Amino acid sequence: MTTSFAGYMGKVVELDLTTRTSREYPWTDEDRRKYIGGKIMAAKVLDVLLTGHEEPFSEENPIVISTGPLTGTGVPCSGRFNISALSPQTGIVASSNCGGTFGYFLKKAGLDALIIRGKCDQHTWLEIDNGRFEFHSADDDGLWGLNVTPSQERIKELLEQKWGASRAFGQMVIGPAGENLVLFSGIVSDERAAGRTGLGAVMGWKNLKGISVTGNHEISVANPQKSREWNKKFFHMLRTHPLTGKQLPRMGTAGLVSPMQMRGMLATRNFSAGRFEHFDEVSGETLAEKHNIVNKGCVSCPIRCSRTVSLDGKSVKGPELETLGLLSANIENDDLELVLRLNNELDELGMDTISCAGTIAWAMEANEQGLWDCGLSFGNADELVQVIEDIAHRRGIGDELALGSKRLAARYGGEDFAIQSKGLELSAYEPRRAVGMGLGYATSNRGGCHLNGGYLVILEGLGLFVDPQTPHAKADATMMFQDLMEAIAAAGQCLFSS
Ligand code: SF4
Repeated sequence: MTTSFAGYMGKVVELDLTTRTSREYPWTDEDRRKYIGGKIMAAKVLDVLLTGHEEPFSEENPIVISTGPLTGTGVPCSGRFNISALSPQTGIVASSNCGGTFGYFLKKAGLDALIIRGKCDQHTWLEIDNGRFEFHSADDDGLWGLNVTPSQERIKELLEQKWGASRAFGQMVIGPAGENLVLFSGIVSDERAAGRTGLGAVMGWKNLKGISVTGNHEISVANPQKSREWNKKFFHMLRTHPLTGKQLPRMGTAGLVSPMQMRGMLATRNFSAGRFEHFDEVSGETLAEKHNIVNKGCVSCPIRCSRTVSLDGKSVKGPELETLGLLSANIENDDLELVLRLNNELDELGMDTISCAGTIAWAMEANEQGLWDCGLSFGNADELVQVIEDIAHRRGIGDELALGSKRLAARYGGEDFAIQSKGLELSAYEPRRAVGMGLGYATSNRGGCHLNGGYLVILEGLGLFVDPQTPHAKADATMMFQDLMEAIAAAGQCLFSS
């Protein structure tokens, strides 16, 4: 099937892992016009393929990996792609957006989207080359069991051996957490993660360790000259805007921790307070001063909000604001180096930092209240490196923590302090001090997500200053921002470009 629209490759493929067969999925220009791409397109595909009776861990649960019309076109911040499926964590259709290079190379392979059904009969990794699929054993190739960085290095090594030369390609992998069906495990592409809603576990259940993709198709735009002109203007706008041109490049999202603390919005002690006494030791400014090496970004992004930080003499990905807050203030940990270590461990094992940290905070409170004697307590974070390993490998209390706060609260009690919506733990913004953000958490279509929720906190003190505690106009603003951000993401762009 082809398309008359530029920006699209005109092909969606459905791959069955059980039978190892593929076929073209019917997706028309009318569908493209209505559903754009990314998450909205995936929602439509899942609406068609799911009856409402499927289990997340079943052959009938498809994984939809979809790009948008802007993905790979050179438009600023357009390197994003989407992964959707029924979530084992929330039980509802979920999505996770990722800035790794996989989406760009999926289009180079000639595909707008890939729908993965069925289940591999053994641990497998998949190679896609210009729309051709090849299955490889993840056991024989020494991939199963590896953390995400060694997994990606190993796939690169295997492909280079096969090709006899270096070739550009994209990939996405799961870590041990996904293999062991941790309900909040993610999928990683390069250094970027589709972290939320447990889609790594869906891949793990399908015995699919990773996918590489490459190709040499042209990604077209309708009017290259106009596109170049607009891109230039857009780059200039982003580079000169105070948030996207200064704050985010300088400190990343971690720079927003200070205004959160100032306004009492920094989730502290499992969301029982909004300010952390030892905030100075874990602020974005301290991180920049003591640990920053360089800022990094996704494909074609001038903002480059990601950081590489130094840890044990190595350069590793630094924490985003949500993780920084949840692994410090929310568990009363003032050791910034430990935050970096925990963040790195979570990334390497392939786990959602927000849900894991939120679950640990719940467990600390449950222990304190005598509901679950798990040995975890606020202010004692030293043993958490081991706890996180245990979660990924489903050992000891880690086996239970891998279920997330909602399920644990149903088992032990403490529902009133399980800080989640639809089973997805909240990020580090205290919603009682930013009620529009609270409304967003409650109504976000994938659960307790600040971004899908509309991210009203940016108006409520982090960028502008709309009274954070009035409900006035917040419902309309939340709806507008939720719709706007869905459209931007569906096009293949990063939400910061809004
Ligand atoms: S702003 Fe950050 S997350 Fe968004 S595309 Fe740029 S580097 Fe990626």
